[in-house]
Amino acid sequence: MLRLTKIFHFEMAHAIYGYRGACSSIHGHSYELHVTVASTTETDDPIPGCGILMDFKALKAIVKTCVIEPLDHKLLLSGNFLSKTPTLVSHQNLVTWPVEPTAENILLFIKKALHDKLPAGVILSNLKLYETKDSYAEWQCR
Ligand SMILES: [Zn+2]
Repeated sequence: MLRLTKIFHFEMAHAIYGYRGACSSIHGHSYELHVTVASTTETDDPIPGCGILMDFKALKAIVKTCVIEPLDHKLLLSGNFLSKTPTLVSHQNLVTWPVEPTAENILLFIKKALHDKLPAGVILSNLKLYETKDSYAEWQCR
């Protein structure tokens, strides 16, 4: 099956409420996101016309609007964290989620944000979100 992948980077801070360890304090990551789309056709015949499954520029524009802009340079915290931290003042870059902003939940947010935004002929196939250079969460289409 033909697949295309584009890699993105964004900076974000978070804290994991209830975690026993350093991740319960506000800290930041330089995230790396791999977005892979796949052809909806099973054939391996050459692509007619200009030969493009999906323009990388189009994929970049969708991910930028739906994922990078809502998350980049934001502080992502759960309602639980904020309710237990009354001294934390509101800030323009503070984003509150009903769940903990773990790599897993961020990845599921990204999947939901992208799955219905892709053009005809491709589906979301795989997502990898690197929280550090050697730790990532992965979602794969069944
Ligand atoms: Zn973290």
